[in-house]
Amino acid sequence: MTSSPDRYISTRGRSPDADFAEALLRGMAPDGGLYMPTAWPRLSPDAWAPGRAYADMATAAMGPFLGAALPDGALDRALGRLTSGFGPAEVTPLRKLEDDLYMLELSHGPTAAFKDLAMQLAAALSSEALQASGERLTLVTATSGDTGAAAVAAFANTDRVRLIVLHPHERVSPVQRRQMTTVEAPNVLNLAVRGDFDDCQRLVKGLLSDESLRAAGSRFSSVNSINWARLAGQIPYYVSAVSQLATMGETRAPVFIVPTGNFGDAFAGVAAQKMGLPVAGFVAAVNQNDALARAINDGVYARRAAVETASVSMDVQAPSNFERLVFEASGRDADLTRGVFETFAREETVTLPADLLNAIRAQVSAVSVDEPTTRDQIAHAHATWGQVVCPHTAVALSAARGVDRSRGPVIALSTAHPAKFGRDVAPVVGFDPEPPKVIRDLGDKPERFEIIDATADAALAAVRGFGA
Ligand SMILES: *Cc1c(COP(=O)(O)O)cnc(C)c1O
Repeated sequence: MTSSPDRYISTRGRSPDADFAEALLRGMAPDGGLYMPTAWPRLSPDAWAPGRAYADMATAAMGPFLGAALPDGALDRALGRLTSGFGPAEVTPLRKLEDDLYMLELSHGPTAAFKDLAMQLAAALSSEALQASGERLTLVTATSGDTGAAAVAAFANTDRVRLIVLHPHERVSPVQRRQMTTVEAPNVLNLAVRGDFDDCQRLVKGLLSDESLRAAGSRFSSVNSINWARLAGQIPYYVSAVSQLATMGETRAPVFIVPTGNFGDAFAGVAAQKMGLPVAGFVAAVNQNDALARAINDGVYARRAAVETASVSMDVQAPSNFERLVFEASGRDADLTRGVFETFAREETVTLPADLLNAIRAQVSAVSVDEPTTRDQIAHAHATWGQVVCPHTAVALSAARGVDRSRGPVIALSTAHPAKFGRDVAPVVGFDPEPPKVIRDLGDKPERFEIIDATADAALAAVRGFGA
């Protein structure tokens, strides 16, 4: 097989290769690994020239990954829909906070969180692929809040698609829950699981590998950030950030600070760098759910119970895209990658080989930020820069302020609107953050969801009851 950005292999090395449409509609590779392109496309420096339009940058960054897998014009149509759903002309505006410190605002979309960027594209591209093939698709996704909201907004009433969303019962914010449960769409089922986010992820993995559901005729897949299409949809805003820096006269390569849960956002940045985007480094900023930070800093990747924090969308203890980082950092060694994650699945802990660890550390560093520091950062952002930020953004900003800025600018990614997390933000700043229109429009619509136990049987029964 010749390597090419539009041919995909599994991180575990035991799946047939696939094109973009297949990787998009499957989500996870059949051997339990994650799809990766067999080569990184090369971006021309024009891609991040000052003043470029978001859709142009996204076409340059994403086009090579699609190849000829979708009907002509599919990416243009998807990007048209994406950009029309965002307020600012830049789509993801870059805001200067102080010398050499910036915030990239990713929350101006339909559900006021960064996941809209990837999800709107994934929905539009899936519908193109399904129309072309005449198939139907059932999507199952686990969410700690924002993924589900973004997925419901993107896929509601989409032809040929049914969407089932599992969220941890009473562990998502009321706004996030209402974004998922108030939509009137017969193709959407919301399940509230008595457990944590990792339980939801486990149930989704079980459903996706259930042969009896596969046999029922519809494709089964996930829109979690394991889906390559979602990852690809997050690459353009890194390009946009560098372009906007250039517009402001800053040409030194930035360090990106990424508030991290499943490491999908951060891995999209790594991909952009592999494609030639000038980036000086990445810092994954996690909350007290610090399995990733411990893996990178101590060399032992160990599962722990997730704890509840204010940055709930990052309450993840087994970050799925860590597997992509291991694969890439090991020099694309599928045997090693499979070994690491099979050991982790079996023993809940795995020691990373020294060479691998060094390669990972050369790519990304990691910082864990505790709850008092997160609150202090929300207060600091308001007092110093006049910015009301959500807890996820505060985790990134706190880590950003600890980074050496003598060699270049530091960009913290701002991932959600603070009004989605008013319960945590209001007590710190002393007022309720002003909700954007997309949240005001939720009103008092009735909610629809089903509460289930965190067992495979309960999940299967609910999915069967939905007719999937
Ligand atoms: C999902 C999410 C994150 C974490 O992104 P990952 O890709 O899972 O690392 C951070 N902030 C917000 C608001 C999110 O919704």
